[in-house]
Amino acid sequence: MARITELLARGRTFSFEFFPPKTDAAQLSLGRTIAELETLHPSFVSVTYGAGGSTRERTRDLVTWMRRETTISPMAHLTCVGHTRGDIEEILQAYVDAGVENILALGGDPPTDPADVRPSDYRFASDLVHELQAAGQFSIGVAAHPEVHPRSSSRTEDREFLAQKLRLADFAITQFFFEAEHYVRLVEELAALGIDKPIIPGIMPVTNKSQVQRMAEMSGAAFPQDLAERLAKVDDPEDVRRIGVEAATELCAQLLDAGAPGLHFYTLNRSSATREIYANLGLPVVSSAT
Ligand code: FAD
Repeated sequence: MARITELLARGRTFSFEFFPPKTDAAQLSLGRTIAELETLHPSFVSVTYGAGGSTRERTRDLVTWMRRETTISPMAHLTCVGHTRGDIEEILQAYVDAGVENILALGGDPPTDPADVRPSDYRFASDLVHELQAAGQFSIGVAAHPEVHPRSSSRTEDREFLAQKLRLADFAITQFFFEAEHYVRLVEELAALGIDKPIIPGIMPVTNKSQVQRMAEMSGAAFPQDLAERLAKVDDPEDVRRIGVEAATELCAQLLDAGAPGLHFYTLNRSSATREIYANLGLPVVSSAT
């Protein structure tokens, strides 16, 4: 088990994100994915958290299972929306008891249905970062938004609040984006505010046209015209995947050239695109599973 802060101090990290499965079949499929990706020896993996606590037990169970049963260091995502101080204390105690030391502190998104709104003692991710810092045991990550968070009123405000968060936290992982210049600009803007903590770019390989375009719209990530045109010319899902993997490989290579301290892959609980990108980049691949 390793603290991400220490892994980053030693060198580049390569990491994967999973979400907690909802059904037994999805659980089995994720088990296979984890077994396949474990052979790539990721530096760490992270597990998402349903805002408002909708995956509270499932996130905790997956993170603590990985801590116990695999060789991979897990990081638990945690959001402030819908949580009281008591809730957060309880969740953090469970992680301390299980030996989990890495937490990604997030704002989370407010529920769309007013019936799901629950009282919250926290408003912004930085409130949660304060709590984690006071606990003293955790390596703390936060989210960064290269193309500016959709709720930020300006780029300047976005960067100032992010810098405030990063003065306390240890590192950031970015929202996905498709052009390296967004990442480079983010790092430069943070440097101008005196922040030199590691900013790990988040990578989302296109494996399915409609899904990525929808997610890009939700996250505010601009979809590049040339990639859209290449994808528009193909219909076969295998061709879409191939183009997506090529584009993601190119993006990763540019980010590594630009000095990124690591790469974090949004896997959507599947292994094959990530394994292909790993192979294309010349990173070690041991598994031949599909
Ligand atoms: P914050 O840092 O709280 O920022 C949200 C907005 O508030 C920004 O516009 C910011 O500029 C502004 N702001 C911050 N501080 C202040 C302040 N003091 N005063 C006024 N305005 C302020 N969501 C989930 O629900 N579960 C997950 O597991 C999850 N994982 C994610 C992983 C990564 C790597 C990323 C990038 C995002 C993830 N998200 C997840 C989405 C995230 O919760 C949303 O993007 C959310 O809207 C913002 O989260 P944040 O941590 O950036 O929030």
